[in-house]
Amino acid sequence: MEDTYQVIVVGAGFAGLTAAKELGRKGVRVLLIDSNNYHQFQPLLYQVATSQIGVSAVTRPIRSVVRRLRSVRVLTADVASVDVGNHAVTTVDGETFSAQILVIAVGAVPNFFNTPGAEDHALPLYSVTDATTLGTGLTRLLDRADREPGVPVDVVVVGGGPTGVETAGALAENIKFVVTKYFSPELAARCRVHLVDMVPSVLAMFSLKSQAYTTQRLNKIGVQLHMGVGVTEVRADGVTLADGTEIPSRIVVWAGGLKAGNLLAGSGLPQGKGGRIDVRPDLTAPGAEGVYVLGDAANITDASGAKLPQLGSVAQQAGNWAARNIYADITGGTRQPFHYTDKGYMAMIGRGAAVAELGRKRLQLQGPLAFLSWLLVHLALLSGTQQKVRALFSWLNGYIFHSPAQVVVGGTERGLDKGTGRGPQPGR
Ligand SMILES: Cc1cc2nc3c(=O)[nH]c(=O)nc-3n(C[C@H](O)[C@H](O)[C@H](O)COP(=O)(O)OP(=O)(O)OC[C@H]3O[C@@H](n4cnc5c(N)ncnc54)[C@H](O)[C@@H]3O)c2cc1C
Repeated sequence: MEDTYQVIVVGAGFAGLTAAKELGRKGVRVLLIDSNNYHQFQPLLYQVATSQIGVSAVTRPIRSVVRRLRSVRVLTADVASVDVGNHAVTTVDGETFSAQILVIAVGAVPNFFNTPGAEDHALPLYSVTDATTLGTGLTRLLDRADREPGVPVDVVVVGGGPTGVETAGALAENIKFVVTKYFSPELAARCRVHLVDMVPSVLAMFSLKSQAYTTQRLNKIGVQLHMGVGVTEVRADGVTLADGTEIPSRIVVWAGGLKAGNLLAGSGLPQGKGGRIDVRPDLTAPGAEGVYVLGDAANITDASGAKLPQLGSVAQQAGNWAARNIYADITGGTRQPFHYTDKGYMAMIGRGAAVAELGRKRLQLQGPLAFLSWLLVHLALLSGTQQKVRALFSWLNGYIFHSPAQVVVGGTERGLDKGTGRGPQPGR
């Protein structure tokens, strides 16, 4: 067993990467482990799936992010188990590493809520692999529909939260602009996007005003809303809704929710809502000294005791805060309870249309101003100058000239079959 590291961080997402960088800046010896050799920017995955930006805009090699931090070692490996008592992790290759402190920041996995057929037939949108699989499927669907005049083309998006709304909006705009321009108006007229959720309105976490604006914009661009009705079954050829409605569809996008992955289930830590770990105010796991759980893997509370949502900003700030507490652990200081700076929420609906509720006071913006804020905020949050430049050019290209940013490399129509189109998935 190797013990040359002071801290092991599992997961180089928003939370883990931020923690590792902060610790590296202080000279702490960190082993940063991720299944992938890249960091992915999840907020823009729906744009990859809908060909608005390329993969290279939303991914950045982890080694490039920490290249100047000499005390941080990056390991590309899938962690198979964690031993919270010994602050140790074992990879699928059987290598074990331990350290003084263990940080678990492995994100989440899609939650299909035991919906029959969903795991087999619906396509989630949580990783770059998911996004490219979905993008390939959508493009192949259009290529095929182009050869089948008169046949309706329906795509169902399950989940009316920000991811579902953004995906449905982007698909509808693609039909309006890209399909009309690059295929034919006849094909565009046959395409329909459905957005389904069991809650009565889209964007449940937003204000009524933002919900009303979003509903009106989605209706305007042709998204068919099925609100207040759940999906009871997903099949290879469509979905059934709780009211008996059948929607034929070869592609069902799952943006219905998240839960903790298997790594946490096997950790022995007590799991709370969504299988996540209810961490203490200082972000440590209860009953496991020297173990921190961050980001989407944790239920984190703010100073008032309210649970914070699974957001990039929560994960990033928790990563930063944990790094400070870990440094205090190492240097004999005192840990401080996490304080979250609430920056609000945003969701993009389409070209010139978005909603934003900014800051603790929830300053509400809708329309072009919110759209511009969304672009600027996401540009600022993207990791890496090259990535920012690529995203900016793709947006200019797409929003002004309606050109798709991405081509499909490889894949066949069988890519629509979930079992054949996906790359290796980390065993979370
Ligand atoms: C489609 C989508 C859109 C979103 N849009 C927004 C938005 O607009 N604004 C916002 O604030 N938030 C948004 N979010 C939420 C935000 O992306 C997450 O809250 C954030 O990524 C959580 O960060 P994290 O570090 O906890 O996990 P992640 O970013 O998921 O990172 C987890 C890392 O752990 C690695 N990992 C997992 N298991 C293992 C293992 N066993 N071994 C090794 N490595 C492992 C993964 O490869 C990954 O790199 C969105 C999420 C999604 C899915």
